[in-house]
Amino acid sequence: MYCRVIVDIVHENVAKPFTYLIPEGMKLCAGQRVSVPFGAREKEGIVAGLTETCDVPPEKIRSVIRPLEDYAAITPELMALAEEMALQAHCPMAETLRLMLPAQMRGGRIRAKTIRMVKLAVSAEEAHAAAEKAKPGSKRALLLDLLGNGKPVSTQMLAAQVKDPGEALKKLEGDGIIAVYSEETLRTPEGAYILSGDPGYVLTPGQQEALEEILPCLRSKGGKFLLHGVTGSGKTEVFMKAVHETLAMGKCAIILVPEIALTPQMVSWFRGRFGAAAAVIHSRLSAGERYDEWRRIRRGEARVVIGARSAVFSPVDRLGLIVMDEEHESTYLNDRHPRYDTREVAASRCTRENATLILASATPSILSFARARRGDYILLEMMHRVNDRPLPEVEIVDMRQELEHNNRTVLSVMLRQALKECVEKGEQAILLMNRRGYNSFVSCRNCGYVVKCPNCDISMTYHIGDESGKLRCHYCGKEMLPPVSCPECGGRHIRYFGAGTQKVEEEVNRMLPDVPTVRMDYDTTGTKDGHGKILEAFRSGRARILIGTQMIAKGLDFPQVTLVGVIAADLALNLPDYRSRERAFQLLTQVAGRAGRGDQPGRVILQTYRPEDPVIGFAARQDYRAFFESEFRRRRNGLYPPFTVLARLLIESRREEAAERAAEDLERKVRETLLDHPAWQKKVLTVLKDTPSVKFLKSRFRRHILIKALVSRETDELFGALTEMASAGAENAEICFEVNPTTMM
Ligand code: ADP
Ligand code: ZN
Repeated sequence: MYCRVIVDIVHENVAKPFTYLIPEGMKLCAGQRVSVPFGAREKEGIVAGLTETCDVPPEKIRSVIRPLEDYAAITPELMALAEEMALQAHCPMAETLRLMLPAQMRGGRIRAKTIRMVKLAVSAEEAHAAAEKAKPGSKRALLLDLLGNGKPVSTQMLAAQVKDPGEALKKLEGDGIIAVYSEETLRTPEGAYILSGDPGYVLTPGQQEALEEILPCLRSKGGKFLLHGVTGSGKTEVFMKAVHETLAMGKCAIILVPEIALTPQMVSWFRGRFGAAAAVIHSRLSAGERYDEWRRIRRGEARVVIGARSAVFSPVDRLGLIVMDEEHESTYLNDRHPRYDTREVAASRCTRENATLILASATPSILSFARARRGDYILLEMMHRVNDRPLPEVEIVDMRQELEHNNRTVLSVMLRQALKECVEKGEQAILLMNRRGYNSFVSCRNCGYVVKCPNCDISMTYHIGDESGKLRCHYCGKEMLPPVSCPECGGRHIRYFGAGTQKVEEEVNRMLPDVPTVRMDYDTTGTKDGHGKILEAFRSGRARILIGTQMIAKGLDFPQVTLVGVIAADLALNLPDYRSRERAFQLLTQVAGRAGRGDQPGRVILQTYRPEDPVIGFAARQDYRAFFESEFRRRRNGLYPPFTVLARLLIESRREEAAERAAEDLERKVRETLLDHPAWQKKVLTVLKDTPSVKFLKSRFRRHILIKALVSRETDELFGALTEMASAGAENAEICFEVNPTTMM
């Protein structure tokens, strides 16, 4: 027998599987990891398939060295998925296969953890007799007593009760009374199994109707749904019921969330309901824990998987359901090579495995909603909150008028008043300021000079600290002291502009000195469980006001929150990206949805310098449909995605001339390629060489070539050619090809 092996090397020449001989007596199956000779080295690989015949001459064929596990690490369905993704991303399969295994498993960097176990090697009577003969109170007697009932005990447990049992155990083993052996064990992440049970809700009509559509599909061949439910409509309970049904059918479910640290409630709900059947995959797991959770899933011990996007590759055997909560979040796009959109991967998996897909959001992405309208997904709508709670009232404050009335602080008169009333009533408030630090830029009033990072074309943010304030680059992390005088003109009128979370925190504390607050942003959540501690302080009521960046806008369910203030609603709208309106609408609607989730109605105050902007209006009315229609029209008229595909070749170099030269060469090559392929050319709307809005980053100069094309098979082929062009590289410059990149900067 022979097998075809995909060797774990990413190189164009190694893109095809290699054939190896399976030595006599070795049993292998497709998907199994093996060790094979490759050139002069030994490499890991994955068996793609078995064959009876072989096209390699017998004197050249080499043999598999050994299997790395005695089971297939890659299930047949994941194998097919890896193949499909490799085709789409125009990359070797070795690369997409890597997505499907815990990183540390490769290269044998992680092994199953074993513990030493002890059990009787003789009958209970014989052991009893031996114990009688031993000196009373001796280690030997104590150990025999502990092992007397015949149950295996770990050496660790024994050592907890008998001091230094090593010698005595050795003796007992030597006498043939006990056996000592190793056993595999799983590293269980902290706090994994706390069961809280089912709250036994009476389903709302909306939940009921959604489930009536979903369950029949789940029970038959699967289906694809977009669940559009307003904030607080109880989407999680719909997922739970669907998961229950999936488990009852003997199948498995995968629940995807944008970022696990930001969804502690979702995780605890799932753990509470499904206990040890649930595996939670998050970035703070140790390598060992991650590997063990993966094995629990692979063995079918964990049948509900909760995790961020990479959990879509969980090796469950019988997939019944994939849920993607907050499907509009950009964290579902994997930016790194091989690039993929989790929504596409999930849909492909569900189709292949006859499973059901539920995409859910209060603010679906334009793309998904358009697809639902076209009939690709079944649209389910839950337009009311549970228990008939009203959606919060949203009031807009025009910050230009605050300025006219000489209020130069970040809090409007109305928001100040509302905050006071809220805490006086013993309720809680959330303030969104989508920018961290104290001031967002520092500039010279005399000549207009703005302090920028020496490595990046980005203005430095001022942060206050324990001792002194510092300027920090939010891109590369560079820190420096603020200048005393202007480096350009020598003037001494250095001014600080643009507020961030620290400034908001300071103003709130000044206004309400006795009210405890917490701040949640990138700077306060760096430590292990940083998010959890802050959210716990707020949940318990120890903190009354939560101030933070967009981290606080998603998915949190705090019934005591009756007031949400958005300090600068325009921030998101000002970004130079065709998606900025969509993102602003999502952020504002989501954060507004944090208010009034308990018995008390909620109030939202949106502070803006552009109250007339339609997006602010749609968000204030929480009118998704109206927003969708307006945005869909704008995209169609402007030929933006989903009507077209945007892609770019990004060129980076330490030397500006090299970047420019590479960009010119590349642009010429692209145009030549198009001339050679008229069918591709027909689908291309623009090819434009440009300097990105950020000219350099991390000391590398940048150029890009923007390509806008119609969605088509030809465009796909063109992108294949561009991927190859990018991987060929350029002199002194790096090229990277990106399709629908998450940022255009
Ligand atoms: P969404 O994700 O749609 O914003 P959640 O799933 O967080 O909403 O649900 C909001 C709150 O309503 C949660 O506290 C949840 O426990 C509660 N809830 C869900 N369904 C019901 C129900 N049928 N009856 C009462 N409370 C419910
Ligand atoms: Zn920098």
